[in-house]
Amino acid sequence: MSTATPLLEVTDIEVAYGEARALFGVSFSVPQGSVTAVLGANGAGKSSLASAIAGVVHPRAGRVVFDGHDITGKSSHTIARMGLAYVPESRNLFPHLSVKENLWAQLRFSLPRAQRKDAYDKAMAMFPVLGERRSQAAGTLSGGEQQMLALARVLAASPKLLIADEMSLGLAPRIVDLVFESLARARDEGVTVLLIEQFVERALGFADQAVVLRHGLVGWQGAAADAGDELLAEYLGGETASSV
Ligand code: ATP
Repeated sequence: MSTATPLLEVTDIEVAYGEARALFGVSFSVPQGSVTAVLGANGAGKSSLASAIAGVVHPRAGRVVFDGHDITGKSSHTIARMGLAYVPESRNLFPHLSVKENLWAQLRFSLPRAQRKDAYDKAMAMFPVLGERRSQAAGTLSGGEQQMLALARVLAASPKLLIADEMSLGLAPRIVDLVFESLARARDEGVTVLLIEQFVERALGFADQAVVLRHGLVGWQGAAADAGDELLAEYLGGETASSV
């Protein structure tokens, strides 16, 4: 793995839902300015890992250090305000609120008042279709537009780290391209990215390093360029190397 300063360090994280354990001691670090892909078959623990880092699920054991601060067990609100943006698989939009209201709700959550107006303008500039739809209820947007809204509302706050869980799930290839373009722009602006992706080839093409989970453990980690087909077939079974 890279020797650059880690922005995120996850050490021996364990997550359980009652008696059901999802993660059994996962450790890895994310260098500042890098893109890390988290891969794994269904149920491997990818979403549990993302939500434990973002403070949505509280880990049973282990430590998460973000930007030099121990954030283990802190609230998702505190963590968001520290510059960690999280887009869950469910997108967490308010379906009955308009695009504009959804943006403001997120900006109130993640930014101090003085920075919100500029961030709102930035979100609207990121995907012009959001401006056209600003009065429309989020629940009536297409899947692609909803994903753009989910992404714009966190990237507008210029986070240090973006954790994006299965952003391209169910989207048309053209929209997946748009999503990856906006992730690339964010990366070029200095946002560190932790990407959970079902499109393995696409994720590895974009990422610097990869962490492959299997049954709640790290099966492999290393440079994305070294994650060959054989290794992916071993860890992901039939789900390897899908592409759009
Ligand atoms: P997928 O790609 O299907 O979303 P994943 O790799 O993200 O899978 P997780 O969603 O983290 O995996 O699930 C890991 C394990 O934890 C699975 O066995 C899953 O059934 C279980 N699990 C996840 N969420 C819950 C929950 N809220 N309550 C109980 N068990 C859960």
